[in-house]
Amino acid sequence: MEHKTTGDRRKLNWILTAAVIAFAALAVAVCFLLRPKTGAADRFVIRYGDGRSIEIPAWETRTIVIRNGEIAERETGEDEENVIRIENGEAWMETANCPHRECMKQGKLSAETVRSRPLGTWIVCAPHRVYIEFAGDGQ
Ligand SMILES: [Zn+2]
Repeated sequence: MEHKTTGDRRKLNWILTAAVIAFAALAVAVCFLLRPKTGAADRFVIRYGDGRSIEIPAWETRTIVIRNGEIAERETGEDEENVIRIENGEAWMETANCPHRECMKQGKLSAETVRSRPLGTWIVCAPHRVYIEFAGDGQ
């Protein structure tokens, strides 16, 4: 009887251990499946106003207005204005009133597009000196 109880306890311990391991494995699998498309350290660095910059995590949803080299509250379409959109790990120049709107034609910047884009990790608005750079892990 004594022996049997010890055996049952051992069996119970083994089952608990197995359950903990199974749960941990499941947690890892869930994290892997639910991982965001963007790396945790992926971010966009927006450079403007001759030397100023802000960094925004790639997973954020943001609209940034830059007018005359300053961060602005809202879009007005006046003076030298760029509206940058960040959504789902992508950044793009939503609107800009620079002469040829080249920055708007540069498409979406993301971890997935950097290899195929002509400008790689950059979106450049040369006339307004506004630059968006994608920075991934360790960059
Ligand atoms: Zn531009």
